Amino acid sequence: MNRYVNISYNNNALSVKTFKVMAEKLKKNGFTVTDEFDQNAELTVCIGGDGCFLDTVQTHSLPSMPIIGVNTGHLGFFQEITPDGIDDFITRYLNGKYVIQDLPAVMITCITDDQKVYTHYGINEVYVRGPHTKLLHLNLSIDDTYIERFSGDGILVATPAGSTAYNYSLGGSIVDPRINVLQVTPIAPMNTIAYRSFTSSLLLPSDLTISIIPEKRSDSSHLYIMFDGWEQQYDNIKELRISYSSNIVKLIRLDSYSFWNTVKTKFL
Ligand code: NAP
Ligand code: MN
Repeated sequence: MNRYVNISYNNNALSVKTFKVMAEKLKKNGFTVTDEFDQNAELTVCIGGDGCFLDTVQTHSLPSMPIIGVNTGHLGFFQEITPDGIDDFITRYLNGKYVIQDLPAVMITCITDDQKVYTHYGINEVYVRGPHTKLLHLNLSIDDTYIERFSGDGILVATPAGSTAYNYSLGGSIVDPRINVLQVTPIAPMNTIAYRSFTSSLLLPSDLTISIIPEKRSDSSHLYIMFDGWEQQYDNIKELRISYSSNIVKLIRLDSYSFWNTVKTKFL
């Protein structure tokens, strides 16, 4: 029986070189490396940085097979091995000596004035922001409780895995991925006698739904919905609903993986 493996890689020189080495070694061990991304492959290898990993999961709609990341000189929060660890990885993979980290996706549903529905997923985060430099006003509810009229640049909702990405730059908290929370982080919130918005992140249990109803203004009818560095512009959003989705991405970790060790070595 053929054992299919997908390999995606970015176009830097080390990634291209690592792709050739990885493909060769996998073939020697009896795997078939597919040229086109095969949703039924048993494994996906992603060679690059976190951006390459996020691009792979976005391009292929959160594929269901396990993914191993090979870091080629980037920050690499999702990337578990380096190019010199390929032999060790293949041995471990063949012997089942690894663990799977489930990465839940946050889902944003965009409902337009004419009742069209569009859905996007983020492994790191989803966020909404306005165009240009105009102040944005968003009415925020959690489940059916109205919370606030937010005024600022936008609102970001991060998964635990995404807590160390844009969320962290915005002053949000780093979340241990063993805790299942959604983090609602304001982007440049205004808090004055004219406008009142929460200035810190809100941490929500995974079964709540966030609703955002944008205030209609002639000068701010466009909204940008961002997800893992991808973006989509909408002109006539009536409501956005954000929640955990049942979709997960399965990331391969070696026995030695420690989230806090990664945070320490990448950030401090
Ligand atoms: P990018 O513009 O190339 O770089 C974003 C940086 O964030 C890279 O260094 C990337 O790591 C790192 N990163 C991505 N996911 C991470 C995570 N879960 N934890 C820690 N760092 C992480 O964009 P990209 O590589 O395509 O990544 C898209 C992400 O960029 C978005 O999901 C968003 O979170 C982040 N972003 C951050 C800011 C900000 O901090 N001001 C602004 C916009 C977007 P690699 O070097 O390994 O690729
Ligand atoms: Mn990147």
